[in-house]
Amino acid sequence: MHTLTRWASLLFDNEQRARTLDLTDDSPNWQRVWPFIGLHLVCLAAFWVGVSPVAVVVAVLSYVIRMFAITAFYHRYFAHKSFKTSRWVQGIFAVFGAAATQRGPLWWAGHHRHHHRHSDTPEDLHSPREGFWRSHCGWFLGNRAFETPQHLIRDFARYPELVWIDRFDIVVAILYASALFGLGSLLNAVWPELGTSGWQMLIWGYFISTVVLIHATLCINSLAHRFGSRRYETRDDSRNNWFLALITLGEGWHNNHHHHAGSARQGFFWWEVDISYYLLKTMEKLGLVWDLKPVPEGKKYAFSGRSGENRSPKGARQ
Ligand SMILES: [Zn+2]
Ligand SMILES: [Zn+2]
Repeated sequence: MHTLTRWASLLFDNEQRARTLDLTDDSPNWQRVWPFIGLHLVCLAAFWVGVSPVAVVVAVLSYVIRMFAITAFYHRYFAHKSFKTSRWVQGIFAVFGAAATQRGPLWWAGHHRHHHRHSDTPEDLHSPREGFWRSHCGWFLGNRAFETPQHLIRDFARYPELVWIDRFDIVVAILYASALFGLGSLLNAVWPELGTSGWQMLIWGYFISTVVLIHATLCINSLAHRFGSRRYETRDDSRNNWFLALITLGEGWHNNHHHHAGSARQGFFWWEVDISYYLLKTMEKLGLVWDLKPVPEGKKYAFSGRSGENRSPKGARQ
């Protein structure tokens, strides 16, 4: 029984788990690498469970809802406080963000604040200057980034519900996946013509949707500091990339974002599609969020004058 409790706490409780790790060790920890690889391998079960239009629609919706929770809330709200909201809405989107299986809101936002302080310097945990894999997924598969950087996120760490979600984020993801299994089973029972099942909905709505969602988000760390144009002369390598902006609901305007991180919008001009911002504006009209911070005019037009040029930014490490 004691062994069982210990295994459960190591599996579900980040705080207990951190105590067992050497947090200075930065090499890949296989206890973290295998579940990550497993998440990808389970997607192959699509060959057994098949596919149906309803499963694909749910997978896309599951992607969009959770990507919005990540971009608008984990990033623009928890990390940058670019708008205000109620405690209820804050909590609901913290849950959907945790369902994206990218750790809890305090961990995510705390590490992201660290990224802005040290972008593309040796301190940055995911600079592509250290190589693509390091910036894409190597940085969180070691022990060094395992713990929530509490000192960087004290403002939100005073909400016990956020602390709980942050500590047991994997439980949220498991409940989300179970709900999708339940939805598929229910549809199979009441509407069999749809051709779906619990297992099919689990594979498409959770596993496939989650793997695509994770990689799209990670591309902002890896590719949006490598490929695209530079409108503003920031101290880092950030780029504006329309394709990444499209798949991440607006996060691809990353050079804009590093130029002025405090604004609720990342597409600074009307032609820079920023779906998260449009959704936030809709939520503002419904009274769910307010005080969306704009881009100051002076900063918006402070171009470097050499947009698109691939320059080595100031302070670049040799
Ligand atoms: Zn960045
Ligand atoms: Zn940011």
